[in-house]
Amino acid sequence: MTELDNRNILAWGSENQEKLSRLRVAVVGSGPLAQLIIASLAGLGVGYSENGGAIINIDNNRINNREIDFLCEQTTDTINKEKVKQFKKVVTQIKPYCNYIPLFTDFCTADLYRFESEIIIEATNDPVSKEKALNYSMVYRIPFLSGSADQTKGAAASYFGKEKPDLEKLVLPQFRGRLQEGYTSSVVAGLILEELRKHTFRYSDRSGKSLSADRNLSDNEIIYYNSHSISRNSFRDDFSRKKLDLKNKKILVVGSGALGNFLGISLGYLGIGKIDFLDFDTVESHNLSRQILLYGKVGEKKCLTLAERVNKMNSSSKTSAFYGKVGKINLDEDKDWLRELYETEKEQWKLKPKGRREETFPKTLLNFKNRHYSLSPAEKRDGLVLITKEWLSRQNYDLILGGVDNKFARLWINQAGRCCKLPYIDGGSGPKSGQLAVYIPGKTKCIDCQLDLRHFPTRNSCIDGPEASVVMSNSLVAGMMVGEAVNLFEGNIKKRDNLTLRYQVLNQKRILVDNEKKLRDHYC
Ligand SMILES: [Zn+2]
Repeated sequence: MTELDNRNILAWGSENQEKLSRLRVAVVGSGPLAQLIIASLAGLGVGYSENGGAIINIDNNRINNREIDFLCEQTTDTINKEKVKQFKKVVTQIKPYCNYIPLFTDFCTADLYRFESEIIIEATNDPVSKEKALNYSMVYRIPFLSGSADQTKGAAASYFGKEKPDLEKLVLPQFRGRLQEGYTSSVVAGLILEELRKHTFRYSDRSGKSLSADRNLSDNEIIYYNSHSISRNSFRDDFSRKKLDLKNKKILVVGSGALGNFLGISLGYLGIGKIDFLDFDTVESHNLSRQILLYGKVGEKKCLTLAERVNKMNSSSKTSAFYGKVGKINLDEDKDWLRELYETEKEQWKLKPKGRREETFPKTLLNFKNRHYSLSPAEKRDGLVLITKEWLSRQNYDLILGGVDNKFARLWINQAGRCCKLPYIDGGSGPKSGQLAVYIPGKTKCIDCQLDLRHFPTRNSCIDGPEASVVMSNSLVAGMMVGEAVNLFEGNIKKRDNLTLRYQVLNQKRILVDNEKKLRDHYC
């Protein structure tokens, strides 16, 4: 373990991180799902060579230019090369100490036994391959995790050897021969990695007792994600698939951090015609464990790196980067909501004990605006810009996807979305949960009404420390956000008050649509 894992250690402590780092995990496959699983495993710090860990990747496909990959490059030099061997270059940039072992072979001849894997993850859509992996896991008594995904849905299953295996179910035959989409794979990868984490250690309560609800799936149990089902977690489709021209769509991704990276991957797989990344941050080494596209770019601007990498993975997605922040306040137009936010914040500040809050609270609305919605002289010198509503409306976006980490940015985007009649999908994630809310002007209430943003606790990163989110919830939430983007473009979302989706580690279904109607009525 190194300082590269300090965000993971924040989430679950160094003892648990140590357990993860020792794991020897075999992954079968090289498609979008396998790539997402492998990149995230490396991010998690699994397979630390010095601790005896390893990621063993079994697959016999070669790179071809009909497929989209993010874990290897498609150049004239790499076409027809063994995919798993090419992955090594990227995996060891995500985590330099990762002991990644590519086995370019068929499962039967892999002689996996030599590599002493302790857990096997089958990530193809091939029931025959899954059956072989399951048989292997039964013979050597190691856990079997299985995932598959298609264009709109995905599934995860596991077998830990406690019950008689239901072969017909565990090989996920519904996905046979289907192509794996990026966003469905992103959700399934998150589910699978969470199962791996639960198998390795469980979260505990304040007294240190492990949480009984933080349990693995039972043998033969399957969890589904389905963007085309009303519950989002049943295999059965409620919406039909429509032919879409995604080449004409233009999306702004705000935030190029943990969610932004996974959003970029899913959008790149979909082949959205134009993707813009807005961010003000530069890459730091501890980012690489969750922000899996930023490898090898420490010190560079995150938005530029994402734009470059997403365009590289799918050249039909044109990308741009905006080194900027949200956003500019116009005190004439924004006075009402800003005043309300100011008063709410003031009340919350008063309730906080001294030492847990900023020393002073801004005396005027103008001071408040300057604290939360302005650039420092250093930021200005650095060329950072504060974006405006006018700029947003000129860009003609079809949608904003937000992966930001504070309520001030969220509220600004929400207001801008309302003014410019721009749909906005807001995502957020923590270690044990994540959520996203969909705002479609004229169809759903705004994000502020759905989530009551202004009453969100205000974190102070200097005092409270950085909040640790983990790769699983980011992968899941970003995948589901892109799933809702597809639903928006397909017209599957009917007029309703709220559309909030949740990911809850401790819930048996994991993925839920929040049907609670406790909406605030701020402005809508
Ligand atoms: Zn509202």
